Amino acid sequence: MAADTLGRLIDASAATIEENAERLTRLDQAIGDGDHGINLKRGFQAVAEQREALAALEPSQALGKAGMTLVMKVGGASGPLYGSLLMAMGKALQGISAEEPAGLAAALEAGIEAVKARGKSDVGQKTMLDVLVPAQAALAQAASEGLALPEILARVRAAAAEGLAATEPMRATKGRASFLGERSVGHLDPGAQSSALLIEAACRVLEDRA
Ligand code: ADP
Ligand code: MG
Repeated sequence: MAADTLGRLIDASAATIEENAERLTRLDQAIGDGDHGINLKRGFQAVAEQREALAALEPSQALGKAGMTLVMKVGGASGPLYGSLLMAMGKALQGISAEEPAGLAAALEAGIEAVKARGKSDVGQKTMLDVLVPAQAALAQAASEGLALPEILARVRAAAAEGLAATEPMRATKGRASFLGERSVGHLDPGAQSSALLIEAACRVLEDRA
């Protein structure tokens, strides 16, 4: 991987979670228990503390370790879910290059399958999957078309933003927000928002070296 891309991905992820922790908490106050910002801040701070050690690893190993840290440090549903996402991505990246958009798309697909399995969830239920799934689909499609990196990233960002917006009119059928039934309608999903922020941050880092 290009010089310190991994380290910069860690920095950018931790920074966007830190900057938006209050916003994530507010969203979770509306349809959950108000801890999503705090949960993720604790987890990504712990990942950031391991920055140098993680940045020295192969991407597959670094993802696995960061995923384990999230599982251990993040309370709530989102810790095991984000942890599973990263650990499965790491496993899928063994032996394939994270530099290749198609390789990254395959890894993200494996990560999403792990989230679905752990969460017993799928798209359309007002969760992080409503951002992750369309973003992965856009990445896979753009990679198969052989587009250049800036165009690929533009498609991924657009798909993530659209997926996030689509959670607002949805009724939640998974996670805490599902306890609210119809009252979950009219709010963005906090986990979809954090996924969109993390994807945006990753795209910014990758764009820098395009
Ligand atoms: P908790 O709900 O335990 O308080 P968080 O507030 O940290 O945990 O995370 C809530 C977010 O986790 C939701 O907004 C949603 O995006 C995601 N989530 C919850 N349950 C599931 C699930 N079964 N599948 C996928 N994502 C889920
Ligand atoms: Mg919560």
